[in-house]
Amino acid sequence: MIEQLFELDADASEAQLRILVERCEQLKSQAAAVQARATALWAAKRAAAEQAAGVPVRRRGRGLASEVALARRDAPVCGNTHLGVAKALVDEMPRTLAALEAGQLSEYRALLIVRESACLSVQDRLTLDAELNEKAQGFQGWGNRRVAAEAKAITARLDAAAVVERNNKAVKDRCVTTRPAPNGMVYVTFLMPLAQGIGMYAALKREADVCGDGRSRNQVMADTAFERVTGRSATEPVNVHLLLVMADTTLAGDDTEPAWLQGYGPIPAGFACKLTGDAVTDKEAKATLRRLYRHPRSGQLVAMESRSRTFPKGLARFIGIRDRTCRTPYCNAEIRHLDHATPDRDGGKTSAVNGLGACEACNYAKEAPGWQVTTRDRDGTHHAEFRTPTGARYYSLAPPLPGTPVRQKISLLEGRLSIDLVTFEAA
Ligand SMILES: [Zn+2]
Repeated sequence: MIEQLFELDADASEAQLRILVERCEQLKSQAAAVQARATALWAAKRAAAEQAAGVPVRRRGRGLASEVALARRDAPVCGNTHLGVAKALVDEMPRTLAALEAGQLSEYRALLIVRESACLSVQDRLTLDAELNEKAQGFQGWGNRRVAAEAKAITARLDAAAVVERNNKAVKDRCVTTRPAPNGMVYVTFLMPLAQGIGMYAALKREADVCGDGRSRNQVMADTAFERVTGRSATEPVNVHLLLVMADTTLAGDDTEPAWLQGYGPIPAGFACKLTGDAVTDKEAKATLRRLYRHPRSGQLVAMESRSRTFPKGLARFIGIRDRTCRTPYCNAEIRHLDHATPDRDGGKTSAVNGLGACEACNYAKEAPGWQVTTRDRDGTHHAEFRTPTGARYYSLAPPLPGTPVRQKISLLEGRLSIDLVTFEAA
């Protein structure tokens, strides 16, 4: 039936195509509902099996969120949300689940309702589920904001104290994050308590009000934020520690292969050369040259090994450059740990082949019973295989270095005050 649905008829009328678009949307919601039921049942079966096996309560369910995420081809960090939403819909919000199954709610809108009511007791959540669905009558015409606002209002009425407590708890999650923006720019995001955040924004606006030097208000605000956080003028060159990996043919201007800036991503060759040029002409800069080796065919770094149980600095740097981000499929989070794929206690070596870059959550998940990670070097390409307790296998390949594999040297320029120029040569 699905095959039939997806057979697109080139002669279909616009009205028929509109119906097909509608039907597909309904199917996506239906699939999300079935996926939630399957996820909740999976969690229940895992819990029962662990109980039967005598696993202590605090260790039950470890790693399951990552398994759910991998099965959905999503980042493991999203696994807890998928698992939590599925359990909430199935156990505590039957009418919202029914609305999802009927295609009246999208998966995202069902998530908004679960999220807004997360601080409620099971009993209050059941009440919210009934009240909201009664009021919405099929959610006809309700957009994302309306759905979230109505759920929030009912939550606040049912248990105001729980909402206050949740707000207080949220303060714990204050943080600063960055993510790449186009054209060599970056977004810096502050998550902070409302009063502080608004206060900070107001202070920047006041600065823009009194400054009349020809810069735009937005420019003054961004420059002021930089100056007050770093204590330096925004017009001075920046003292930051950059880790830049580029082919030395690019550095010499022979080609335009993009370079890789650790913590940011690919950057155009011209921009990379400007960064390195600025750094090299700086009198305070110290440059040292190192050599590492890259595989002539795969273009990856060639293995290193250490007798130490922990990864020494050079090997850690090597794995960090090779893996770039957490190696769990779909994760891409920043590397926080260097992990022995085969643990040290099982005879795993402290080597580039057995070492893997991992984020905190993934490192923890793979310690759960039934997980197995194996790594190997196949013709210069670093492979990792993740096996989960249900027998699923997921593969992860280290990304190739910048530059085409035929070119054999790679330069790595790091820092401004301390420059580390590393050349990679063919093994
Ligand atoms: Zn990860």
